[in-house]
Amino acid sequence: MQKKLERIIPPPPPHMVGDGFRVHNFFPAAGIQNKQRMSPFFMLDYASPYHFPPSETQRGVDVHPHRGFETVTIAYQGKVAHHDSAGNHGVIGEGDVQWMTAASGVLHKEYHEKDFSQKGGTFQMVQLWVNLPAQYKMTTPRYQEIKKEKMGQHAFEGGMLEIIAGEYREIKGPAQTFSPLNVYNLHLNPSKEITLELPAEFNTGMLVIKGSVTIEDQLVSADHFALFQNNGTSITIKAKESATLLVLSGQPLNEPIVAYGPFLMNSWEEIEQAVEDFNNGKFGVLD
Ligand code: MN
Repeated sequence: MQKKLERIIPPPPPHMVGDGFRVHNFFPAAGIQNKQRMSPFFMLDYASPYHFPPSETQRGVDVHPHRGFETVTIAYQGKVAHHDSAGNHGVIGEGDVQWMTAASGVLHKEYHEKDFSQKGGTFQMVQLWVNLPAQYKMTTPRYQEIKKEKMGQHAFEGGMLEIIAGEYREIKGPAQTFSPLNVYNLHLNPSKEITLELPAEFNTGMLVIKGSVTIEDQLVSADHFALFQNNGTSITIKAKESATLLVLSGQPLNEPIVAYGPFLMNSWEEIEQAVEDFNNGKFGVLD
């Protein structure tokens, strides 16, 4: 049975995160304004293609904390650098993914990589916040840097499905996760199609990164997000032109969500504890 389209969401007006990330928030602040609707995915910020002129200083977001979830950064154009208080550092480029488990708490900073900053260029990326089940919110922070060539690959006539997390037809993605979810990059050649099979109860949506596709005879253009109902298992996606889509599908956590700035917990008491721990320096040190 087909998993039906619920709606197609155009990119909400962009805003700046720090001075380096010009993003459209598809959820939960704009677009889908329901914190549970895409659980376990809590936030989707999309930096649509945008040209940054050369800069001697690296644009980005300076040191800030996180607790209770994972930040997942997927680079499509340009390069992103990262440092955190757990001692991790990395640079990701086109097609690479940085999967940071903040969990009990880290400080980190995220910015344009040095050479990219100096030369300037087109920047395009996604940042997802993946919520953690209550039992894992205070687990040890972790950092996974996943290069494009390490992704699970399902080649088919007309394209390639890259499995970042979860699995597709028993091909596993390299990212380790704390709840059942799938994150794919789907590449389709012009006028080719694929039918994806995804569990009915999984919250499912797709962001068109490049090109345009038709789903149920409806056009979904670049920078648009397609949200699906939780009632079927198969979705047929046909490319109008060469297309790339980010596919998100996950089992809802079905736990209370209390969000406050960079903290994502299950209760206000836990938020107050996070603020207190942050103020007492328990998230570590990062210059
Ligand atoms: Mn952050």
